[in-house]
This record gives sequence, structure tokens and C-alpha cells, in this order.
Amino acid sequence: MNAHDSEIISGILDSEGFSPVEDPSEAQVILLMSCAVREHAETRVLGRAAQLGGSWKGREGGGPLLALCGCVAQEHGESLLDRFRDLDLVVGPDCYRELPALIRDASRSSLVEFRKDDYEGVEASRKEFPRAFVTIMRGCDNYCSYCIVPFVRGRERSRRTRDILDEVGGLASRGYGEITLLGQNVNSYRDGERLFPDLLEKVSLAAGGSWVRFVTSHPKDLDPAAVSVMRRHDNICRQLHLPVQSGSDRVLSRMNRGYSSSEYLDKIAMLREAMPGIVLSTDVIAGFPGETEDDFAMTVDLLGTVRFDYAFLFRYSQRSGTKACGFPDQVPEEIRLERLGILQELQREITVARSRELLGRELEVLVTGPAKKPGQQAGRTGGNRMVVLEGSDHPPGTFVRVRITRADGWTHFGKTLETLLK
Ligand code: SAH
Ligand code: SF4
Repeated sequence: MNAHDSEIISGILDSEGFSPVEDPSEAQVILLMSCAVREHAETRVLGRAAQLGGSWKGREGGGPLLALCGCVAQEHGESLLDRFRDLDLVVGPDCYRELPALIRDASRSSLVEFRKDDYEGVEASRKEFPRAFVTIMRGCDNYCSYCIVPFVRGRERSRRTRDILDEVGGLASRGYGEITLLGQNVNSYRDGERLFPDLLEKVSLAAGGSWVRFVTSHPKDLDPAAVSVMRRHDNICRQLHLPVQSGSDRVLSRMNRGYSSSEYLDKIAMLREAMPGIVLSTDVIAGFPGETEDDFAMTVDLLGTVRFDYAFLFRYSQRSGTKACGFPDQVPEEIRLERLGILQELQREITVARSRELLGRELEVLVTGPAKKPGQQAGRTGGNRMVVLEGSDHPPGTFVRVRITRADGWTHFGKTLETLLK
């Protein structure tokens, strides 16, 4: 989401006559995008702001104008200008249209109003051809008790279906091979009477031969209608990210997630029945307040039962203003870390075993660009796995059939068998 917000900012600045430079030392303006979901990300971006400011000795020393954008800007607002002398602008996720004027004005200021802007009409300056993100909704109303997103991204709002379809159709006709619909909770999309399954079906038709993905689905809202649309349309990737967070019903309830572990497992069964071999990934939080050894063991069990192809594993991070931040039974940091380590080890084994299942298989791959070594190219499978293509030289955006020759983690190696025409 932040990667795409950066593309939106670039689009706004491009249309006002600004242009990007390769070398930061030539920049007149530096913009940092920030994430507030966990403390670590926040600390890092603030460290980077301090370091950049320091290295150019601020604007009085002739350095560039430094702007902090995104959720950390929204969270702390004006106070960041006091804390970081070299920071000039603090701009929240709803105020990017003001950036050109703020930059030209060049006085130190912060702008963090909630304006419900969905950036309609902004031509995002996309950086990742042939892969494109398309926002379908912004904000979140779910208030999971650990999560800062509803406080920094504001209320949920959906873009109009017509505008989304125009954007998707335009991308497909320009050769984008993969279109990812974006939202904090895509399943709560609503444009009048139109809900997500209907939108997904229309997007799939507008995308033609291009692949369609969507992220993120909330387990409580993923319904059979959406799964049925996926099943009926071959260009919707057989891949889904479905964050579970915990395997314990007590913890899930305190997280305000709105589903039990057995309801979650039922959704996984529904997906696998509809689309055998579907690639599944998840998010898990270790050490949520009040998580006991028994609760944690249920999460370990769930990972072992589902055997996700991949999992993003986090230790719980206290975010101020969220409900869970005030829970009295915070788990000590060393236990959070220890539990995270256990999950990582378990998932590593599962990820490796799952990826080995691909050895020798033939898969469709979208060529995305050059890989590290000469003569190699990078690509993605429909399951969203990276594949290094050896001895390959195709224009990015080409679909090829590939035999997997090496598979021992998230990255795979493959040999191209033929080019596929779409
Ligand atoms: N809207 C999406 C993404 C939310 S943020 C969703 O609901 O899935 C992405 C992930 O960050 C979450 O799924 C969660 O696992 C993690 N996360 C959010 N807040 C956190 C916190 N306070 N501590 C640790 N992880 C957190
Ligand atoms: Fe955060 Fe929950 Fe909203 Fe996801 S659904 S952004 S975890 S509050």
C-alpha cells in the first residue's frame, strides 16, 4: 500500500513539473514514506530522517527540503517538526494533493487532515512494470485492538467501480501482466449496491489476459461468493493472503477479529476445495497481551495444520492509542521474541517443504525484468512466487511456461519452455 502511495505522490509531483533524480545528492526535495504499523518501522524511518537531515546539515546549510509522508506523519503530526530540526514537511496519507504547493511554499509545516481523498484523477507514476497496484478502497473501520491503521488512515471508503474498471482496462491494454487490487480490507468494498465479488468479476473481465490478485482479505468477510468468482475466472490468481493473527479463540476475541479459529479453518477448507493447490499465506502476531503458553501452542498447531506456503510473522508491538496498548497483561518482550523464533523456525521448514513440491513442475510465469546475474531474468508465478529464469531474454510482461529446476525457499529457479500468447 505504501509502495503504491509513493507512486501516487510521484504522479502528483510529475504532473506539476517535478522530476525524479537518480542520485539523492542532486535532489532539491526528498520525500520519505513511512509505516506506523509496528514500532520498528517507525523508529527506522525517523532514524533515516535524522540521518538525511544531518548529512545535508539542514536547509540552512543548503540541503534539500525534507518531507515525511505516510502514517508516521499522520500519527505524530506537527510534533515531529519540534523533534527533528531538519524536517521541513509532515504530510499525512490524505493530503498528498497539497504536496506541490507545500514544497513551493517551502515553509516548515505539517498537514495531517482526514479528507477522505481517494486520489481519483491522479495518474500514479508506476515503477514496477509489468506489475501494477490499483487501489479499490482506503481506510479501515475494523479496529482490531492491536492495530493503528484505523487511526492513521481514517474511515473506510471505496472508489467507484467505473473508475476502477477504467484504470484496470487501461493497464491491461498497456501490457501490464499483473494487476493487484489494494485495500486494507478488500472484502468490505462497496459502491452503492455493488460488493467485492461483483467488482472482482468485472475487474477480471476488464483485465483480459492479465492476471488479477487482491490484498488484503479479512477472514471474517471473505465469503463464498468471492471464492466462486475466483474459481470461475482463470485470470484471477490461485493465491490468497488471509491473515489469521492467532490460533487461539480467546486471543482472537481480544484482538476483535470477528472469527474463531474453526471458522478460519473452514474458510481455508472452502478455498482448497474450490481451488486445489491454491497458494496461501498469512500474518501472525506472537505475544499479544494475555497470550498464554496454551494460546501460543494453538497458533503453532494452526500453522502446522494449515501449512501455509508463506507467513509473515511479527512480534506484538504496542501502538499508542490502540485498545490493546492499554491491556494490563502485556507479554514480556523476551517471551514475544522467543515465541516469534519458534514460529519462524516452524514456518521455515513448511515453506521449504512446500516449495520443494514445485520441483519438476511446469508453471506459467510472468517475466518481470532482469535478475541479479547476466543472462538471468526474474519472474512471478500465479502463486506469487519469485522465479529466476536461466538463459532467458523476454520483454517484461511476457508470459512463459517454465519448468522448475531448483526450489528451496521463496525463490525458485526455472527453465523457460515456451512463450505463451495471451
Ligand atoms: N489490513 C491488513 C493489514 C494490516 S497491517 C490486514 O488486516 O491484514 C499488516 C499486518 O501487520 C497485520 O496483519 C498484523 O499481523 C500486523 N500488525 C498490525 N499491527 C500490529 C502490531 N501492533 N504489532 C505487531 N503486528 C501488527
Ligand atoms: Fe488493522 Fe484490522 Fe484494519 Fe487490518 S482489518 S488494517 S489489522 S484494524
